[in-house]
Amino acid sequence: MDAKDFIEFGKASLEFIVNYNDTIRNRNVLPSVQPGFLKEKLPAEAPEVGETWQEVLKDVKEIIVPGITHWNSPNFHAYFPCGTSYPAIIGELMCAGLSTLSFSWMSSPAVSELEDLTMNWLGRAIGLPEQFLSDTGKGGRGMLESSASETTMICLLAAKTRTLRRIKTESPHLDHENLESKLVAYTSEEANSSVEKAGVLGSMKMKLLPAQDDGSLNYLILINEILKDIEIGLIPCYMVANIGTTGTCAFDNLTEIGHVCRAFDIWLHVDAAYAGGAFVCPEYRYLMNGVGYVDSFNFNPHKWLLTNYDCSALWVQHSHDLIETFQHESFDLTHAKENEKYEYKNWQIAQGRRFRALKLWFVMRMYGVEGLQDHIQEAIALAKKFEDYVNGDERFEIVTPRSLGLICFRMKGEDALTQDLLKRLMRRKIIYVISATHRGRLMIRFAVCTANTTEADIEFAWKEITEQSDMVLQCSCHQPSR
Ligand SMILES: *Cc1c(COP(=O)(O)O)cnc(C)c1O
Repeated sequence: MDAKDFIEFGKASLEFIVNYNDTIRNRNVLPSVQPGFLKEKLPAEAPEVGETWQEVLKDVKEIIVPGITHWNSPNFHAYFPCGTSYPAIIGELMCAGLSTLSFSWMSSPAVSELEDLTMNWLGRAIGLPEQFLSDTGKGGRGMLESSASETTMICLLAAKTRTLRRIKTESPHLDHENLESKLVAYTSEEANSSVEKAGVLGSMKMKLLPAQDDGSLNYLILINEILKDIEIGLIPCYMVANIGTTGTCAFDNLTEIGHVCRAFDIWLHVDAAYAGGAFVCPEYRYLMNGVGYVDSFNFNPHKWLLTNYDCSALWVQHSHDLIETFQHESFDLTHAKENEKYEYKNWQIAQGRRFRALKLWFVMRMYGVEGLQDHIQEAIALAKKFEDYVNGDERFEIVTPRSLGLICFRMKGEDALTQDLLKRLMRRKIIYVISATHRGRLMIRFAVCTANTTEADIEFAWKEITEQSDMVLQCSCHQPSR
């Protein structure tokens, strides 16, 4: 492909993207395809001879797009948002276009330094205390990883190193052979499944402690468990607190849990994957009171801050903890030690890192902090509107109080009604919501997800829900509920 062709391909692709987004309301949010559909439409082998971009783009339009779920349809209310914006899309393109990567400072100075700078911008924008920011010289540091799941895992490994090192120093006579198998981690049963998985992958027992009715973890339950574990010779090591659970967007109390973790020398990691984005608005920062006590804090700009997947922000208070875990000298790289501060390979699992900061930097510059605040506030205002609809209809009930942009509700009465409603909504594919259970009761999660969702879209979703619930109640298979 020559340069002229490349530019034509690029223009046609950008036009396609704009058109796709402009007309996204015309499509069902869920595709109508069956498993294996793609195999029937595409050949089993790659072409012998290269094809033209026109042929490729045609297949994107005719075969690929009909098979995708439209995460940025304003009728998408499932899960949590999948961030995107035009600045972020171009940032992603630019990342590929510059095609550079960094593992040490000289491997690409601007990649390393822009990531450092952008993480300080973002940290300040969400009101993180200065001990997390690298330019305050207090030992803290931010970086971008691929996912919240990965950061939970990275910090678990760092916690393991830190704890083992401490014990070996404090008690040099202990049998160090078996120490690793005694390490134990804690989180609440409301944690994202990726937290439990980090325990499995990191070979550390992850205890899922019972949450309270509001979805938060009571620190007394944590203390109790820690004391019991110490009693039987286990070593408390790692705790993952939830700031905005996936199920109901519940918040643990970081001050209380932070005190417990300090007292027992436990690494405290915060999973704020979705809710962290809201902290660009000062009025929501009370939800992370006590953040000064945590060792590591993570949230996903690729959820609520308009930046394309993947972009997960991680800050640590003591960056040497990560280095002690991930630094691994090998002879072929010893020449590349110009600047310890930017040796990103010493902070993570992979050796190289892509230029992720670019898209986030584009977003922060072009929206500004005020633009990001507007985005969050608009989503929350729309969620309140939906909440009002639910409260105004006596056939429905709110299950847990609205939290930021998430409403959890159900049809009053037996679960079968809500189940039937969900089934009808899924079959129609016009709006997309998912179910969850809370305290043994089935509910529907409704999240305001996209930047182009309007009041009319919320009204549209409510109309779809109430029309389908009429059908549910008319159905002879259900007894009328009281
Ligand atoms: C979405 C979510 C995750 C998973 O995020 P990834 O970046 O996809 O790994 C983890 N924790 C919480 C609370 C989430 O909402």
